[in-house]
Amino acid sequence: MIKELYEKVKKTKLENQGNLRVNGVVSLLGWHSTRENEVSRLKKYLQKVRNVGYKQTMLPFWKITPLNEMPQEQWESLCDGCAQCCIIKFEDEDTGRIYHTNVVCELLDIYHCTCTRYAERSALVPTCLTLNPRLIHELKWMPETCAYRLLAEGKDLPAWHPLLSGSADSVHSSGHSVRAKVVSARDIDEEDLPNYVIDDEDEKDE
Ligand code: SF4
Ligand code: SF4
Repeated sequence: MIKELYEKVKKTKLENQGNLRVNGVVSLLGWHSTRENEVSRLKKYLQKVRNVGYKQTMLPFWKITPLNEMPQEQWESLCDGCAQCCIIKFEDEDTGRIYHTNVVCELLDIYHCTCTRYAERSALVPTCLTLNPRLIHELKWMPETCAYRLLAEGKDLPAWHPLLSGSADSVHSSGHSVRAKVVSARDIDEEDLPNYVIDDEDEKDE
């Protein structure tokens, strides 16, 4: 009888321990499964945050940095290299009207549309303006496609802009530079400049 009772208690104990073990595994599995859900949820959340961050950092600098806060390197890179601002112009002092010629500054390399004396341009050509965020709002004669003007007017850069096309040549191949459209001031007589005005012919003769 005592032996039977002992065996019964022992069996019950083992069963309980077994249950405990089983329950322990179950609860461990439950915890593990909960942890997995949490980790999975966290991963999804992080992915979402990363996606948002990715989209934000993918915005080009000219869309997130105002012109007057751009570091010099970014500011310079905005120039599309069209050289339209190197075209010689006349201003009617009475009306303020600007007349464009098809003659460019003598320092311009008319094939590459680059300034041959960029570092000294202001000293060598007093009329050559060094553009800045304030001036771009004031100079009405800047070409409509000038990247600085576009951004100052709240517009986007065109697809042919080298920063978007990835090629410095796209400004020429798209026909937006002065390449093959101008002559150099070096090659003409300064006295003849008025004859090179290409704006309204009637008004030119007035
Ligand atoms: S017009 Fe504007 S974009 Fe074109 S060369 Fe001049 S500064 Fe650069
Ligand atoms: S000095 Fe250079 S940048 Fe200035 S107008 Fe002449 S070519 Fe253009």
